[in-house]
Amino acid sequence: NEAVSKNFIEQIIEKDLAEGHCETVKTRFPPEPNGYLHIGHAKSILLNSGLAKKYGGEFNLRFDDTNPTKEKLEFVESIKEDVKWLGADWGDRLFFASNYFDQMYEAAIKLIKKGKAYVSDLSADEIREYRGTLTEPGKEDPYAKRSVEENLALFEEMKEGKCEDGSRVLRARIDMTSSNINMRDPILYRVAHMTHHNTGDKWCIYPMYDFAHPIEDAIEGITHSICTLEFEDHRPLYDWVVTELGYKTSPEGTPKQIEFAKLYLTNVVTGKRYIKRLVEEKIVDGWDDPRLVSIAALRRRGYTPESIQKFIELGGISKANSSTDYAMLEYCIREDLKMKRPRMMAVLDPVKVVIDNYPQGQTEELPVDNNLENPELGKRTVPFTREIYIERDDFMEEPPKKYFRMFPGNEVRLMNAYFVKCVGFEKDESGKVTVIHCTYDPASKGGNSPDGRKVKGTIHWVSAEHGKKVTVRLYENLINEELGVYNEDGSLNLNPNSLTVLTESIVEPALLEAKPYESFQFVREGFFCADYKDSKPGAPVFNRIVSLKSSFKL
Ligand code: ATP
Ligand code: MG
Ligand code: MG
Repeated sequence: NEAVSKNFIEQIIEKDLAEGHCETVKTRFPPEPNGYLHIGHAKSILLNSGLAKKYGGEFNLRFDDTNPTKEKLEFVESIKEDVKWLGADWGDRLFFASNYFDQMYEAAIKLIKKGKAYVSDLSADEIREYRGTLTEPGKEDPYAKRSVEENLALFEEMKEGKCEDGSRVLRARIDMTSSNINMRDPILYRVAHMTHHNTGDKWCIYPMYDFAHPIEDAIEGITHSICTLEFEDHRPLYDWVVTELGYKTSPEGTPKQIEFAKLYLTNVVTGKRYIKRLVEEKIVDGWDDPRLVSIAALRRRGYTPESIQKFIELGGISKANSSTDYAMLEYCIREDLKMKRPRMMAVLDPVKVVIDNYPQGQTEELPVDNNLENPELGKRTVPFTREIYIERDDFMEEPPKKYFRMFPGNEVRLMNAYFVKCVGFEKDESGKVTVIHCTYDPASKGGNSPDGRKVKGTIHWVSAEHGKKVTVRLYENLINEELGVYNEDGSLNLNPNSLTVLTESIVEPALLEAKPYESFQFVREGFFCADYKDSKPGAPVFNRIVSLKSSFKL
């Protein structure tokens, strides 16, 4: 039933199109270039670009760079890269709000001339005091009665650099007794002697977000200005600006703000402030540390745009705040890579096995399917030799019940190779197993015995002679999930085991060719991606994207 499956924003859009409130759909993603994008932003990006695509409209990427304090060019570039990578196409529709400063200034003049804005000399503290509270109405600003001429002259002085920072503001004249505090003569412009990354020193007055944003939308002809719930109370002000300035999207319609719930992930840090501290204290390796959920970190970890699109789609769009489990993101990447990636053999924590009755010096190139579930990925060969490595925990000297892997006297299947039977092992002084001895059954080549004999355990392996040593990194949540994200004092509950670096892992030779960002399934161990930062030609470093097992159910 198509009508039911439409989200509430699609329903609004279809009604607006039908009633002539807009002729086409124009949306935008308006990041402030003051940090890296994270998984929450992906929701906004895919929602806005998806709606434009669905209704044959336009999608703008607009940098909301009206606040010069925190903005940097470095972030402009990273944001563009991330938006593009996610698959949102802005074509040639790239905009900077700071290019509209002239129009914003003109809009302010227009409001002053209409008697709808005035210059106030109250200090920031006084403005706060006069504004009142939720239970107490605001008080009239003593400067609210200034004449249009005086306001024009003073606003000119503000613009000309004749006023100190914080000494004067331009306020909208709306209603100091409104039940909505945002409507109690909100500030439209402030004085700030600061160099802007785009406009340099041209301006020393800067517009406030609530004034600037509807103007930006109107200039670009945005029909549906989609933002997150915390702006719901600001919508009357958005509408006030649009109405007073007479902006239209069609003879019948005006730009419209619509709010939806932010994406939150359970037990995951997204706050910029916290991530910055983790970076500065070198707890993580930069903004793209694979344990973070910035778009750059997810890409580095080995997430694909498709997996993130799927994740956002599954989450749906709603007006109710909720928190999504990280396991759902893991589910999405597993589903995406399952059929697409070759399944290779890598032994993360190796112990040597000698097959006593296998000819010394012989190598067999055994044919292997790259992905049993997807024949299109073809085949490769894997070298088999007398000495191999298996995972240390695939052997037990004294196995518990239901342990079907290797132990003295037991026969197991070496994946894609032979049946082998454990006939002994050696230990060093500390009691650590150093070598396991086996015999193999030559008739079981390929992994099945002609006599129909069954074995319960199948384990993976890598030739000791041909295998290559690489570094492999395993991750756990950065946050200690038992304790929750924050301590009482606001500090983070970090999980000391969030990163494990293995330096002795042995992989089949083909994996040495892995290119940065290339990903694979390592059978029984998970999906892994070659790190773009730390890999060297011929010496890849593999990050585990996700393990194969999950308790997550759709
Ligand atoms: P943060 O402080 O987490 O970086 P922000 O709101 O300061 O977030 P902006 O650059 O202002 O970041 O955001 C750009 C757009 O992304 C805005 O429209 C905002 O509503 C949206 N957005 C930010 N965080 C989320 C989120 N968690 N879920 C959905 N949309 C989000
Ligand atoms: Mg931001
Ligand atoms: Mg913001």
